[in-house]
Amino acid sequence: MLDRHKGSHGIRISNDTEMITDEKWQAIINNDIAYNNQFFYAVKSTGVFCKPSCKSRVPKKVNVCIFPNTEQALRANFRPCKRCNPTNENLPDSEWVNLITEYIDKNFTEILTLESLANICHGSPYHMHRTFKKIKGITPVEYIQQVRVNAAKKYLIQTNKPIGDIAICVGMANASYFITLFKKKTGHTPAQFRQMSKKEEKYNANKE
Ligand SMILES: [Zn+2]
Repeated sequence: MLDRHKGSHGIRISNDTEMITDEKWQAIINNDIAYNNQFFYAVKSTGVFCKPSCKSRVPKKVNVCIFPNTEQALRANFRPCKRCNPTNENLPDSEWVNLITEYIDKNFTEILTLESLANICHGSPYHMHRTFKKIKGITPVEYIQQVRVNAAKKYLIQTNKPIGDIAICVGMANASYFITLFKKKTGHTPAQFRQMSKKEEKYNANKE
């Protein structure tokens, strides 16, 4: 039986809590979604527990205790955070999609597949694909491509890195595929895009 009638004064710190390792503390500080469902953290001063990815203010480390699952956090009389909803009760689609886009924004330089993304974000690839498209109007894969092309544009304008290096920097080891994708999305090859932006820069410099 869950004993939830004790209120905030009845928090019991039982043997269910784990040591807070540096790795877990880093995950909390960085709101690292990859650690979701691996552990939960509770904050003694507020009586609330969260997922590692929670965006709420980073608590004082001394107030934090770690639980391997939500049941044990509830049993110790912590309440689930309203913001990150650690028990996953009807997480609205839009919030789920936000978590997915945040993960992509942080990890687009890595290899990302629909499967690995779905795995990390706790849904089936099909459900994720559909929900993402419903909320954002584009698929997760299209979103990843968009983030990569935008990052590549920055590199092309701001650096002299060779195209092949830029491809790797934006998570696409296959340079010819990168060039094809870039052209499809922008209408120009990366080399053309770089030249055009250089010309534009010169033009703007001459105007001044
Ligand atoms: Zn939270």
